[in-house]
Amino acid sequence: MGVDAESRPRRTKIVGTIGPSSFAQGVIEDMIRAGLDVARLNFSHGTHDGHRKVAETIRRAEAATGKPIAIMQDLQGPKIRLGKLVAPITLAPGDEVVLSGLNDFVGEDARRLPTTYESLPYDVQIGERILLADGRLELSVVGVRDTEVACKVEVGGVISSSKGINLPGTRTSIPSLTDRDIEDLKFGLQLGVDYVALSFVRSPHDLTIIRDHMRRMGRIIPVISKIEKPQAVEFLEGIIDASDGIMVARGDLGVELPPEQVPTIQRRAIRMARERGKLTIVATQMLMSMTKHPRPTHAEVSDVANAVCDGTDAVMLSDETASGDYPVKSIEVMSALVASAETGDEPYEVPAFAESLRKSHAWAISRAAVVTAHELGAAAIVSYTHRGLGPRLMANWRPRCQILGCATTDEEVRRMTFYWGVRPLRIAPPSSIESLVTAAESVTLDRGILKRGETIVITSKMPLIENQATNILKLHTIANR
Ligand code: PGA
Ligand code: MN
Repeated sequence: MGVDAESRPRRTKIVGTIGPSSFAQGVIEDMIRAGLDVARLNFSHGTHDGHRKVAETIRRAEAATGKPIAIMQDLQGPKIRLGKLVAPITLAPGDEVVLSGLNDFVGEDARRLPTTYESLPYDVQIGERILLADGRLELSVVGVRDTEVACKVEVGGVISSSKGINLPGTRTSIPSLTDRDIEDLKFGLQLGVDYVALSFVRSPHDLTIIRDHMRRMGRIIPVISKIEKPQAVEFLEGIIDASDGIMVARGDLGVELPPEQVPTIQRRAIRMARERGKLTIVATQMLMSMTKHPRPTHAEVSDVANAVCDGTDAVMLSDETASGDYPVKSIEVMSALVASAETGDEPYEVPAFAESLRKSHAWAISRAAVVTAHELGAAAIVSYTHRGLGPRLMANWRPRCQILGCATTDEEVRRMTFYWGVRPLRIAPPSSIESLVTAAESVTLDRGILKRGETIVITSKMPLIENQATNILKLHTIANR
């Protein structure tokens, strides 16, 4: 191949959650320099004003570093929580606890605890399990009366205000997009976020609902479905087809399902998404120990490498960058681990691409570009794009050479920061294929991305308009002058 592993840029992308540890512009700039590609705003926490400030800071850091960064808004979804408690409460096995569907009081002891889930008494059945605080405590339902649910403590522990509640076996009646999510979505779209992640997706229909809202709000952006419910695993294929990408949200998934099932679900979900040309993110606890220590554990190192070998587009950091002691170091370590995992000689397996994909012109050109680049030992594939479809399809082959996604607006450029192996570049709108070639040459030479004499494979469209899919492949050798 024309490019050896050492000089090749990292191809798996890094998502970092912005929180109190990373609110400062200087920290975000350092995170970007260390390898951050996508900034995640977690709408389970914070206020609209706070999120606006963070988004503005990210945009300033993006401008200062000159590297495009996508912002992903993560909607809380139908997450159920405990209400306020006077003080932490210890629950011992065998204790009786009452969970209330009301949230208009402060819990004092186990005799009555407030929750954010009004229909709790209607939805749960006797014998079902209720998990508290990321699954650390387990209750079983023993009785239901009016607004209250009586439970027995199976696994004890300490609970405090706002701790999460998971109901793995219950068919909950809460809508996937809560009133709060709809407000948050509207705010995010106006703020200019690039992606939206939807929590606790249960069926493909959830995607129809969020898209209908976006249509009404006047801006449609790609939606990432967070796979963190048993129902989502059950309807995985349909959910992937209906989404632009998926996140294997291992925090809640490992609570709602036996945790030993998560690694195989991760592998299967990534493969299914790749076969369908969709994005994938592996999330949660990847470098958890780095919230407190400057070095990861060996098990965490293996976990990151396995996610890369599973073929994910991106890996994600949560507490590590949002509330940990080493936000920049976490990105540095992640970047190094990913780059190292990618130097394995093992070529990525080519998936059995879905029938629906293989019918499109963009697909045919993308495939031809990848195969041609490989055979010619080309230095890069330069793909002119509006919606990013060409580069995304190429990325799904996991080619050896880099893909330079060239677009003419910041929004289009930012969207590609998520794609495996794609380096997004902004160019001036070309008036002809010849001017596209000239623009691609000058931007890549200026930035030292390509050298004179190197061969590139160019994909484009004719006519050069937004609604035209990729339909042209051109070979070009950068002039030796
Ligand atoms: P969360 O999602 O951090 O919003 O809960 C990720 C997960 O559940 O793993
Ligand atoms: Mn979650």
